[in-house]
Amino acid sequence: MKTDVLGVNYDNVTMEEALELGRQLLQGDRAAYCVTPNAEMAYEALHDREFCDLLNGAALVLPDGAGVVLGAKILKTPLKQKVAGIEFAQNLLPILAETGSKLYLLGSKPGVAELAAEKMLQKHPALQICGMRDGYFQDEGEVVQGINEAKADVVFVCLGAPKQEQFMQRHQQDLQIKLMIGLGGTLDGIAGTVKRAPKWMIKLQLEWLYRLIKQPKRFGRMLRLPKFIFAAFKKRMKG
Ligand code: UDP
Repeated sequence: MKTDVLGVNYDNVTMEEALELGRQLLQGDRAAYCVTPNAEMAYEALHDREFCDLLNGAALVLPDGAGVVLGAKILKTPLKQKVAGIEFAQNLLPILAETGSKLYLLGSKPGVAELAAEKMLQKHPALQICGMRDGYFQDEGEVVQGINEAKADVVFVCLGAPKQEQFMQRHQQDLQIKLMIGLGGTLDGIAGTVKRAPKWMIKLQLEWLYRLIKQPKRFGRMLRLPKFIFAAFKKRMKG
């Protein structure tokens, strides 16, 4: 079931349900794409029709972050829970290993995907990683060809928003895969090149604060979070 949060139609699912939907998409016959918009991205979508359509065109729209969940609550259309992209991706790995699905890692700085792959294989030795490349390329056609030649079933697309969503939609027809997921900084997170917040901070919904302290250059971008919450209040007041 979809829940409209300021124009973005989120799937109102638990992590378990999201994984089940992911499993179903793996059995489909087309390259489905999945997005994981956080509050910053949802705020961007509020002012960018094209980006909003890109998000809503996805087979699966997961609420990445406490901000989205809070916004939905303010709008009185609560979501079941936050389904963070990085956690969804990590929970999908044993399913990929079990179903023999081949994974391709696309994005982040040179060397990061290799490190992330190492970490993934340490935890899931049966996982098949069929290829990878960094996210700083000129020729998208060559990237698509590389993914097809690797015979990938699933691609983690970690190019940041909106680049990753544009890439996935633009090449949906050309990619001979089952599923691709836009995952922002997930490879950095898994590789450990960018540390995630400590568990207690995640529990207290303070992951945004940790990221702000660690990467102060994100400040401008992060202002979209309070703006998003404010927009939710404004909409609720208007009824
Ligand atoms: N990135 C990339 N190619 C680009 C721009 C960005 O591969 O042209 C990568 C960047 O290295 C980082 C990720 O995309 O790994 C974006 O991370 P960010 O922290 O912005 O995403 P978030 O997790 O906030 O969605």
